[in-house]
Amino acid sequence: MLALSLLMGVALLSPVGPTQVSGRIPVHLDIESLVPDISSAPLPAQTLDHTPAFARTIVSGDTLSGLFSKAGIDQQTMYKVLEADLNILALDTLMPGNRISFWTDEQGQLQKLQLWFNAARQVVFNRYEDGSFSVDEVEIEGDWQQRIVSGEIHGSFYVSAQRMGLDAAEIQKVETLLKEKLNFARDLRAGDSFSVLLNDQFVEGESTGNSQILGISIDSGRSHITAFQHSDGNFYDQQGQSLARAFQRIPLTKQYKLTSHYNPKRKNPVTGHVAPHNGTDYATPIGTKVVAPGDGVVVMVTDHQFAGKYIVIEHGNKYRTRYLHLSKALVHKGQRVSRGQVIALSGNTGRSTGPHLHYEFHVNGKPVDPMKANIPMASQLSAKELAQFSSLVRERQALMRLG
Ligand SMILES: [Zn+2]
Repeated sequence: MLALSLLMGVALLSPVGPTQVSGRIPVHLDIESLVPDISSAPLPAQTLDHTPAFARTIVSGDTLSGLFSKAGIDQQTMYKVLEADLNILALDTLMPGNRISFWTDEQGQLQKLQLWFNAARQVVFNRYEDGSFSVDEVEIEGDWQQRIVSGEIHGSFYVSAQRMGLDAAEIQKVETLLKEKLNFARDLRAGDSFSVLLNDQFVEGESTGNSQILGISIDSGRSHITAFQHSDGNFYDQQGQSLARAFQRIPLTKQYKLTSHYNPKRKNPVTGHVAPHNGTDYATPIGTKVVAPGDGVVVMVTDHQFAGKYIVIEHGNKYRTRYLHLSKALVHKGQRVSRGQVIALSGNTGRSTGPHLHYEFHVNGKPVDPMKANIPMASQLSAKELAQFSSLVRERQALMRLG
């Protein structure tokens, strides 16, 4: 665990390059390291209606156990929160700048915990009487405003796009989307032009940091490459040909027995609380190859007390997949993967009743049934959709010419 975190630390400190997902430095949440001295900070009596007993803006180097310790909350309670978080794995995604707030009762017992990611997203844990926790996600749609970033190539595409205002994550998205169409290192020359149309999210006037790419146009004189996001979340060129290969239904190379279905209403047989099963379980022997079901970028490779070793892959703006209880990850954070590429070996890590793969498919941040979800499995738009798409392209191209 420690070796792994050191390696991650080194990777994160390396200079910002085109393969990095984000310029921000994720906090390493080391749930294994025990901080014994939790008695030194007595808590004032607080009620839930008042300010939190402890609140903090996350800084680089913070650990989850360190934060709980500073809040005066014991390890056992922290594991109860982690157990509730298994369904969404939000604690693992805390980054510098996010906020964490603890509310306690008169006895100093944790009653409520809030994670503030941005103005559009918060996660709240509330204590049940039996000592376990519920978890709720608060998502605010906010307002989306369009932004055009355009310019000429001088130096690399990365440097040119950064100069005009795209951040590392946005540049990586552009490069990933066009990777089959354009060799960014070889095909571009000084004076070639580019234009990117983005949608930025705001809540009550405050930027949330969330942005989506709606259109890309790169003009090299010799060729004109375009990509536009359709309402299905996928990207197509002007002719309606998909830029990403279609998804395959399951992330395995052969069929395995399906041992547990997706079930958002599943109840914990012991506590009776609703504890959704957000994925599908396949009875894979330890060491079974797990493949990416579609093209994407690895955004997380980590270990969790209950989820075990797990991987998260982002497929464009709209889709995200998650793989739990792995024995071995064969990819690293920031790595681009192609459909069919082996990303991991299945296992039995974390809290698991036997060797299996737990697979989740998320659409717009919400888990759906991977076996039934309407995911893009064809590489071309139908005639009806193409008509819709073409009018959307005309609108966006007009905007981008203004940029
Ligand atoms: Zn499962």
